[in-house]
Amino acid sequence: MPERLGPARATPLFERLAIVGFGLIGSSIARAVKRLNLARAIVAIDREEPVLERVRALGLADEGMTDIVAGVRGADLVILCVPVGAYAAVTRAMAAALSAGAIVSDVGSVKGAVIAEMQPHLPKGVHFIPAHPVAGTEHSGPDAGFATLFHNRWCILTPPDGADEGAVEKVRAFWAAMGANVEVMSAQHHDLVLAITSHVPHLIAYNIVGTAADLEEVTQGEVIKFSAGGFRDFTRIAASDPTMWRDVFLNNKEAVLEMLGRFNEDLASLQRAIRWGDGEALFNLFTRTRAIRRGIISVGQETPEPDFGRRREE
Ligand code: NAP
Repeated sequence: MPERLGPARATPLFERLAIVGFGLIGSSIARAVKRLNLARAIVAIDREEPVLERVRALGLADEGMTDIVAGVRGADLVILCVPVGAYAAVTRAMAAALSAGAIVSDVGSVKGAVIAEMQPHLPKGVHFIPAHPVAGTEHSGPDAGFATLFHNRWCILTPPDGADEGAVEKVRAFWAAMGANVEVMSAQHHDLVLAITSHVPHLIAYNIVGTAADLEEVTQGEVIKFSAGGFRDFTRIAASDPTMWRDVFLNNKEAVLEMLGRFNEDLASLQRAIRWGDGEALFNLFTRTRAIRRGIISVGQETPEPDFGRRREE
């Protein structure tokens, strides 16, 4: 076991963990939970039998099933790891089978909409503690996951008003054990912060790669040939899962539009600086942004290595 994940627990935190949706995030949680002995049993729930076959082949869960009702029954922790657009239907389907005292959590990249979609369907006596691990890659599916994905990354918890403190602490301990730095904030604040740090950057990447793809006809292959000059990093982000990201934008509309408004204003001033030859304005901005990049590296959220050090570490 790699040192950085820490030692396995002598006694698990949970008896029966049900993971609904066994893609990149679900399978990464399962891998970490198994290594660290965070749950006595893991139940994999996915709508696709081929996904469950991969889960069995990889030895990621103790049980695997497509039947969500049977899957969540008796679980003391249920984590939704499906695209946000599927939350309401999945929550409705499992609600009646949830045990009293169970904790229901998730990993969705937006939080306000998730709470609005899930909370009304959850029975009394079930503790709802939404979470968002701010960690991921552009890959999908059970083969894409790895146990150290959450190590030294943030995991934000957004418990609704009146949430059970004991349940919050248990979810905090769960993510901390996987190496995450845990922070608690309101769902509204989460959505605003993530709009600028994650959602708008993805939108920009999708947009620039889309524009370049349209240009490809004009430049006859040169966009791909000369892609090392900055464009390549955008294509990595723009290769992210289309379903997941469609759902993020549809469910964090207000915050994303607010941040896009600011972004467009700043872009217009850059345009003006270029038009009027205002080198000082450009130089000042680029100096400021360089310092931000160095700040991110110095707090350990990125590495200065080529390829940004984004290699899997098992
Ligand atoms: P993923 O690799 O595509 O996995 C999602 C899994 O959910 C797939 O197995 C998918 O099955 C299944 N699924 C989709 N719709 C479903 C439905 N209606 N009912 C049951 N299962 C369904 O995606 P992921 O990257 O793990 O993302 C999962 C969640 O994590 C999303 O809510 C996302 O916002 C959040 N998240 C992602 C990242 C990231 O960088 N990827 C980071 C933080 C949080 P099919 O293969 O059949 O579609």
